[in-house]
Amino acid sequence: MFRRLARATNMGHGFRLWPVFVLLTAVVALPTAGVFWFMNQAMQNEHLAVRQRLTEVYRSRILSASERVQAAWLEKVSNLTQYGKQEPKSEAFADIVKSGYANSALLYDNARVAYPELSVWSSMSREPGTKLWLEARRQEYENDDPQRAAALYKEIAEQAAQDWVTALALVSQARCMNKAGRSGEAIELLISKLGAGRFRYTADAQGRLIQLNGLLFALELMDSPQNPRFPEAARSLFEHLNNYGAPAMPASQRRFLMQQLQSIWPDCPPFPTQAAEEIAAEFVKIEQDPLKPGQLQATPLKDIWAYQIPDKSLIALFDKEHLLTFMNEALAAEDSIPGIYFTVLMPNVSEPAFMTEKIGEAFPSWHLALNPEGPDPFESASSQKITIYFWTGILMIGGIVLLSLLLAGFLRRQIRLTRLKNDLIANVSHELKTPLASTRLLVDTLRDGRYQDTALVQEYLQMISRENSRLSNLIEEFLTFSRMERNKTKFDRNPLKTEEIIHTALEAMGERLQAPNCHFHLDLAEGLPGLTGDRDALVTVLVNLLDNALKYSGDDKEIQLRGFASNGNVVLEVQDNGMGFPRSAAKKIFDRFYQVDRTLSRQTGGCGLGLSIVRFIVTSHNGSIVAKSQPGRGSTFTVQLPAS
Ligand code: ADP
Repeated sequence: MFRRLARATNMGHGFRLWPVFVLLTAVVALPTAGVFWFMNQAMQNEHLAVRQRLTEVYRSRILSASERVQAAWLEKVSNLTQYGKQEPKSEAFADIVKSGYANSALLYDNARVAYPELSVWSSMSREPGTKLWLEARRQEYENDDPQRAAALYKEIAEQAAQDWVTALALVSQARCMNKAGRSGEAIELLISKLGAGRFRYTADAQGRLIQLNGLLFALELMDSPQNPRFPEAARSLFEHLNNYGAPAMPASQRRFLMQQLQSIWPDCPPFPTQAAEEIAAEFVKIEQDPLKPGQLQATPLKDIWAYQIPDKSLIALFDKEHLLTFMNEALAAEDSIPGIYFTVLMPNVSEPAFMTEKIGEAFPSWHLALNPEGPDPFESASSQKITIYFWTGILMIGGIVLLSLLLAGFLRRQIRLTRLKNDLIANVSHELKTPLASTRLLVDTLRDGRYQDTALVQEYLQMISRENSRLSNLIEEFLTFSRMERNKTKFDRNPLKTEEIIHTALEAMGERLQAPNCHFHLDLAEGLPGLTGDRDALVTVLVNLLDNALKYSGDDKEIQLRGFASNGNVVLEVQDNGMGFPRSAAKKIFDRFYQVDRTLSRQTGGCGLGLSIVRFIVTSHNGSIVAKSQPGRGSTFTVQLPAS
């Protein structure tokens, strides 16, 4: 029967908590997982959105940059087209080069290269074939008679009807004079006679201006730049070579004279068009597939690109440097956008780039590359929003956790209450049943007159009275407990004398402590400090402890109540020599309804509430209680309360 009752009393404890906590965990975990998922999605979407937005912005930027380069190119082409129409072509060539529109050019006239000329066609023979000329050559080269030859060339020069014959004769005369050791006269002849305005346009069979060849010859004869006539003559030749107007000179002669002048004149200033002449000459020499007009094309020449303007009036030649500078200048005009930069990718050049774009039809296979500068722009652009998402998510999760904790607390209280009710009902019914049953039995016996003598009546009445008072005690304990649980107990805070509390408690215990099998010792220190609190409650503490000492001691009871002061506290100790309890129970005995040995409850009449009431009262008075015991050796309960 006791076991059944024990089961009944445990009913409340059997309440299963784990499903509640599993549910609670799910309540937290599911929304948290949801929030994380949404956060993750939001972040990814933000990344994508930012990438898309920036990509669109960058796309428009790179397109506009490409358009800008094309526009600049169109302007260049339109200028070149103007030059293509310019006459003479040699002058157009020089102007193109000097203006910097191209590094070099080939100018066309009716689909033929007009400058630099491919070859000079002439019906003229290389040298005059007259008898006198042949005789002069014979004297010069076969007879080795330069004096005679010079005289003959002089004669030819004077007699000749054509300027080119005269001019050639003068050059030959000077050559022979030099051979004859008359270099001074030769120089004079070349500068004064051949240098006359009459021979300005006089060209030989290859179209070369004889006068300029003569001038170079004179400079060579002067032998040194220190010669007083040298600077003037050299400057004059320099100017002729820089002059692309009339009289026209073949490009090959110009290049040759430039090189020669530079070799004999250390101070020769640079020719602005010399490099252009060299490029054009090389380009003319190579076998080149016909160009597609309007498209920049690579040439077999290293780093040289050719562009034939759509009207085919010229082919502009550019070196790599020129093109890159041109494009970078065009790009520099593009509004600078913080965080990105452009680079030009030549054909067959590949560099990692965030975005590339063609530069237009004029530049087949040329690309513009756009790259972000510094840290990843997508990261920095999206990180702000992502931070907001992140913290929103964290706040939501925090909110969920907080709400769940509140809910858990509420549930815990509800569970505790339910458990309490269950325990209470089970205990109360159990505890009340027994005394009521025995009282009813006794009363029935008395009522039916089933007794022999009046002594038995007395005994029965005493038993009824005992059961009655036990019932009252129980009910009192339940009520106290119930008040405590509902936190309705309001303790007085009166100044109290410790001795008075002790004596009241001893009075309440009545004669039970004076029973023959009980040795009770009261050991109070002198001048015990007083206490502040509720008199009745503190008396209950001592009564409950003394009551337990009696209940859980054997036939030969040794009970001691000590009172002394320690560290500003009043210490009250109740010691017995009873059955004690194991160490593991030392804390649990203060839990409500806890009983070390439930089988004893019938004998002792306890219900496991006494010590929980004691602890409640003590802690409410800012005190503490500890129990020490060894099974079979008795127990000591020490209460410490702050002294007033
Ligand atoms: P009860 O009404 O059962 O006495 P208490 O709360 O007063 O309830 O005590 C709880 C349990 O602690 C008791 O059932 C008993 O097992 C143990 N206990 C209390 N006081 C003593 C003591 N002085 N000696 C041995 N055991 C004790």
